[in-house]
Amino acid sequence: GPTLRLILGDQLDPLHPWLAQRRADVVYVLMEMRQETDYVLHHAQKVLAIFAAMRTFGRHLRGAGHRVRYVTIDDPSNRQRLTANLDALIAHYRAVAVEYQWPDEWRLDAQLRAWAAQAPVPVRAADSAHFYTPRDGVARALAGHRQWVMEHFYRQQRRRHRVLMDGDQPAGGRWNFDADNRQPWRGDPPPPPDTRPSHDHRALWHSLVAAGVRTVGDPQADALRWPVDRAEALTQLDAFITHALPHFGRFQDALSSRHTRLFHSLLSFALNVKMLRPQEVVARAEAAWRDGHAPLPAVEGFVRQILGWREYVRGVYWAHMPDYTRRNALGHARALPAWYWSGDTGMACLRVALRQTLDGAYAHHIQRLMVTGNFALLAGCAPQEVHRWYLGVYIDAFEWVEAPNTLGMSQWADGGLMATKPYVSSAAYLHRMGDHCNGCAYDPKQRVGERACPFNALYWDFLARHRERLAAQPRMAVIVRQLDRMAPADLQALRAQAATTLERIDRL
Ligand code: FAD
Repeated sequence: GPTLRLILGDQLDPLHPWLAQRRADVVYVLMEMRQETDYVLHHAQKVLAIFAAMRTFGRHLRGAGHRVRYVTIDDPSNRQRLTANLDALIAHYRAVAVEYQWPDEWRLDAQLRAWAAQAPVPVRAADSAHFYTPRDGVARALAGHRQWVMEHFYRQQRRRHRVLMDGDQPAGGRWNFDADNRQPWRGDPPPPPDTRPSHDHRALWHSLVAAGVRTVGDPQADALRWPVDRAEALTQLDAFITHALPHFGRFQDALSSRHTRLFHSLLSFALNVKMLRPQEVVARAEAAWRDGHAPLPAVEGFVRQILGWREYVRGVYWAHMPDYTRRNALGHARALPAWYWSGDTGMACLRVALRQTLDGAYAHHIQRLMVTGNFALLAGCAPQEVHRWYLGVYIDAFEWVEAPNTLGMSQWADGGLMATKPYVSSAAYLHRMGDHCNGCAYDPKQRVGERACPFNALYWDFLARHRERLAAQPRMAVIVRQLDRMAPADLQALRAQAATTLERIDRL
């Protein structure tokens, strides 16, 4: 019998070493399963895009002469669980062995390891050959540090992989251009064109609905904008490098209600399902700088996200799972407001970010961190509930990257392992970085009263609630001093305002 090689829905890399040769004694197995559609409530586009990309990948493999067993969601033989399907396929093919690529999610890794220990045939695991660093690479790089500062790891990565280096020195003489990358965007330069493909996936959508898969958000099944294969992902990468990368840095932190994407790449889905390799994306960005097409601060800012943050969060995840997703350092327990699932709120910044998320399964980093994340943290929402929301609604949400970003960076639930201070702000920051406040029911300049922007009172209430804890963070010292100097009556008024705000949180 053959060897079965499992390919998970986020392992769609046609350049994987497995595929270098055609082998008659290997059957590649891809499966659409309720186990994967149901572990959290997902955005419709996320399920559609992953399954559509898996189907395309299966067709490409067959076209290249590989043997493929593709189990659709409505295949009568589908047991809807990974290990039950593997057992059935081993029997069906009289397989002699099973091979899988190391999953990126702890959930699947644990499931496969437990199954392998009692499987009827030998089970071997192989590298997915995608990342720069092994799973334990960050833990080794930062061993002994109490806080896992990304910057340490990032500089090592730059040196080790010789990215943006001139000899031993960082290109341009600086490692970090963050200070140049914090401008609001007022309409100039114009936003890049959206050159993404558009696919009709109505047939797939009907079979998902018929199978009873529950989702959230607009499926846009007749015109889905996410790439389904590597060729489309490469076209998208080209368009990003040409049109958006030159401006990526300056407007990296900007917010806009007119052009929500701004100069971001929209490449996270293609990267996370492994249609693109991080190394090639980084190499293209570096070449754009060396060719004089894009300025160094833009290219460094972009490279930092992929060579630095993306690898770093993966290392944090593997070093701290399974405990990490249970952490709640600030003891937050409030339910997430119902309008996170509808976008129905009078707060314009949140409304724009939430509606866009529900319509398109996408929001850029600052929307996730400083709008939806910031509000949930200030309001004291339960981090596990916030985690499940982010894990469900974004096209690029896979737990290895989502959980550290949500629980660590955004909600400070790990008590400061990742972020040296909580990412919180009052309305002033949102007003400075974006244009939402003009069309908002609330006034960013008011701190108390009916029209006061809720971010203001919630911000000071958060600081007061967690003063002892935050005072221990050196980077919070200035803000804690500001809090301490506030007249008691003013603080009292702010905290009363926060209490009223939280009482009517579902109607903000
Ligand atoms: P760009 O801004 O164009 O950045 C380029 C690439 O860099 C991205 O495609 C991504 O691969 C990588 N990148 C950028 N920032 C990060 C980061 N902080 N961590 C890891 N990689 C990064 N990213 C995900 O891929 N999946 C998630 O589930 C996810 N959840 C998040 C949850 C929260 C609360 C926050 C604050 C951030 C989250 N991020 C997540 C990180 C980041 O917001 C997205 O990667 C990014 O917005 C994707 O859009 P883009 O491709 O246009 O990114």
